Amino acid sequence: MSMRVLIVEDDKEIRALMRASLSVEGFTVQTAVSLSEASALLKNDLPDVMVLDLGLPDGDGVDLVREVRKRHSLPILVVSARHQEAQKIQLLDAGADDYLTKPFSVGELLARIRVALRHRGTTLAAAVTEYALDDLRVDLNARLVQRKGAQLHLTKTEFNLLARLVRSSGKVVTHRQLLADVWGDEFIEHTHYLRLYMAQLRAKIEDNPAEPRYLLTETGVGYRLAAA
Ligand code: CA
Repeated sequence: MSMRVLIVEDDKEIRALMRASLSVEGFTVQTAVSLSEASALLKNDLPDVMVLDLGLPDGDGVDLVREVRKRHSLPILVVSARHQEAQKIQLLDAGADDYLTKPFSVGELLARIRVALRHRGTTLAAAVTEYALDDLRVDLNARLVQRKGAQLHLTKTEFNLLARLVRSSGKVVTHRQLLADVWGDEFIEHTHYLRLYMAQLRAKIEDNPAEPRYLLTETGVGYRLAAA
């Protein structure tokens, strides 16, 4: 059975483009032009993934994300304009899986949908515990981090930070999520911890910490471990 995607987008051209390209890839596509239409559709029939535009005529996307998250675990990808940075973070914190900034290519959209679906599948079956890309290997169960075949020695906090990113590899994780998950809820404002430990991790993992291959910065939002 084909995957079902719900596209919530009020821009006619973008909606048509997304519908066409996702249909070609074998998705069964439903569309909505507003939050209210999306809510109504979600009550009847749950898609496998939702692509949600932020700039909708009848309200705030964050409310729909919270509403959906109360009951469902389906992946939600947010599509935003460049000036909607702050709202984007709010959406990720509310439970959206990832975001794309307009303009984006169809290839990017498909790649993000695949990552989100894969993570959802593996989250339901078993948590992601291994990561391998080029010279870097991580095995969370064995607490093993290798670079070019040699074992790296990480501090407990460095390891926990890397582990959090491995569990979401290929996806952006917000500053707040990282601070809350690695240090605890009371540390969500302490972004300097994150900067410090990310610099230490990069120094150990990256060939050139100034141009990271693995630990990617999502400016103003958070970090992403490159998709393996
Ligand atoms: Ca729009």
